[in-house]
Amino acid sequence: MKIAKRCGCCDGGALARTPAVLAPFIASRVFDWEPTEITADWGLRDIRQGNAYTVCNTLECVDCGFVFLDMRFDDEEMAALYKGYRDAGYCALRDRFEPGYAARNNTFGAQAEYIPKVEAFLAPYMPAAPRILDFGGDTGMNTPLQGRAAAFHIHDISDVAPVKGATRVSYEEARAQAYDLIVSIQVLEHVADPRAHIREIAGLMKPETLLYLELPFEEMMRTDGGNMSRGSRKRHWHEHINFFSEKALHRLLADSSLEIVASQLMPIYAAARHSIVFSVIARKGDGAKSG
Ligand SMILES: [Zn+2]
Repeated sequence: MKIAKRCGCCDGGALARTPAVLAPFIASRVFDWEPTEITADWGLRDIRQGNAYTVCNTLECVDCGFVFLDMRFDDEEMAALYKGYRDAGYCALRDRFEPGYAARNNTFGAQAEYIPKVEAFLAPYMPAAPRILDFGGDTGMNTPLQGRAAAFHIHDISDVAPVKGATRVSYEEARAQAYDLIVSIQVLEHVADPRAHIREIAGLMKPETLLYLELPFEEMMRTDGGNMSRGSRKRHWHEHINFFSEKALHRLLADSSLEIVASQLMPIYAAARHSIVFSVIARKGDGAKSG
């Protein structure tokens, strides 16, 4: 694990810092660290008694407004976190730290109810039978336009079985393809290095490839906290380790010479009225090299 010293979106070095804690589930899954209680039995002189959790920092970029966890997990730690994502072992561990999770997780077994809205947004830009790569698509359950795809590929770090019709591909296999559409749906908020992640995707894009990018526009990022900065309101980190501002997202795309074709703020999950995502279609800009 590295501790971030620069902004993950614009590479700026001016970062405001706020102490925070890492969710016990994440600490357990990634590091095998458990919360503990420091008692008199420990016999410590300068350490106060009480509950001890994994401490970390919230960082906020002064330039682009990106708010993020300072801990940047390496590939091995990311694999530990997302191996068997939402399978029985994952849910059992998470339910131990977050009672009720396993019951809530039942709702992840079906395609998200808002995916038809994504398909309607993409349709005007797509051929009749598009070749699609879902980059970080887990099982492929939520890949839009899969019903009419000429190719339906998934590239993902988790090892869960793909849905019917989907084929897992390595990065090298994906490089040999020409896709009409690459989708990244609610992945970017999880990754350790957003700039490297977008560069990887851009490396798979041909001039005609469109990227559909979807990521949470968290309520905290949409609202004005008065005299409290956004970063200072974020005291607890879970699997979403990146909170994007609109400017941060633009800086991130510009870093890979991607330009926005269409964008919207889309409400998802009707039951949760505060859930809004950035929903963006992008392509390689004129100055970008072919992948
Ligand atoms: Zn920044």
